[in-house]
Amino acid sequence: MIPYGKHHIEEDDIAAVVDVLRSGLLTQGPAVESFERAVAEYVGVKHAVAVSSGTAALHLAALAAGVGPGTTLITSPITFVASANAGLYAGGKVAFADIDPDSINMSPAALEASLGANPDTKAIVPVHFAGLPCDMPAIKSLADKAGAVVIEDAAHALGATYPDGTRVGCCGHSLMTIFSFHPVKAIAAGEGGMVTTNDDAVYRRLIRLRSHGINKLDDPLLLKDQAYADGIQNPWYYEMQELGFHYRITDIQCALGLSQFGKLDAFLDRRRALVRRYDAAFGGNVHCRPAQICGRDASAHHLYVLRVRFDDLATTRSAFMASLRAQGVGSQVHYIPVPSHPVYRALGADPAACPNATSYYSQALSIPLFVDLTDAEQRHVIETITNLVKPK
Ligand SMILES: *Cc1c(COP(=O)(O)O)cnc(C)c1O
Repeated sequence: MIPYGKHHIEEDDIAAVVDVLRSGLLTQGPAVESFERAVAEYVGVKHAVAVSSGTAALHLAALAAGVGPGTTLITSPITFVASANAGLYAGGKVAFADIDPDSINMSPAALEASLGANPDTKAIVPVHFAGLPCDMPAIKSLADKAGAVVIEDAAHALGATYPDGTRVGCCGHSLMTIFSFHPVKAIAAGEGGMVTTNDDAVYRRLIRLRSHGINKLDDPLLLKDQAYADGIQNPWYYEMQELGFHYRITDIQCALGLSQFGKLDAFLDRRRALVRRYDAAFGGNVHCRPAQICGRDASAHHLYVLRVRFDDLATTRSAFMASLRAQGVGSQVHYIPVPSHPVYRALGADPAACPNATSYYSQALSIPLFVDLTDAEQRHVIETITNLVKPK
């Protein structure tokens, strides 16, 4: 069975992990900072904070953005649930801004309407869907007008570029950007995530929150009588200055992440070559067409999504997926609109308020796209799908 996505591990990745195991420092060692520095330099940002998952990165980013009770976080309905959940974790409310039907990214017009309906919005979380960068200048200017902060969910978009040539993660149009290093994403750390920012105060807050809220760097100590004796800091002393979390990532994970990161450009080249062939195969098909067609050179191509007219083909998506599976082709749906989930329904979310997301969801199908997908396997995927959508 050809899966829809899969990581790619080589012997030098394994050696990098083994080296850490022999080094004596499994966590809180030098691999964490090496990984952070490498990503920060590549994307062109001042600070990077590695954490235990992309979800943890979103949670800390929401807190650092000031999301809390009485405030709202707005995200896209077509994303993984974690983008929205960050708002709830931080104690805030969550609202949605519908997608643009051509990019499958948050529509600036829909964001403007959602900001109007939610004047207490503190954070906007655009998601670079499948690796295609959102219209950041438009989103940033709406955020500025509303007094809200932008957190880019770039879990799909490591290696993607904006139209001005800068890289996703540089935070030119946002306060923070988050990445994920789950094995299905661009590079694997096992589990892992990162927040990037150019803001020094946000950086300090993130590294405190990552480790229980305990003072870090040269944070001033708050309780001088406990901290000092005769003007000298007590050698055992530390302070938990706010309620933080244990969201640290290990050196084992960062060694793997760093080794994989060295191959990112080669991974992206392979993904782009596969995408060009899928685009050529499905571009003119009336029953199944690529969901995104713009920005092909800019996207990091995390997913390849088709929009299939299951109704016109007198089939269901479930039957279609079963036929693919019977011929060894895995597929998946990205994503069930987040407001459709029971937790969000119970909070009053209405999926019908995002008609473009609803329509997209009814047709979406992700087909295999990963570095190790061979040319022969891809030909089999194309042939199998082309036969299934042929008029009978
Ligand atoms: C994978 C993903 C996340 C969460 O990342 P984890 O590392 O799995 O916690 C968040 N947002 C999007 C869009 C994702 O695809």
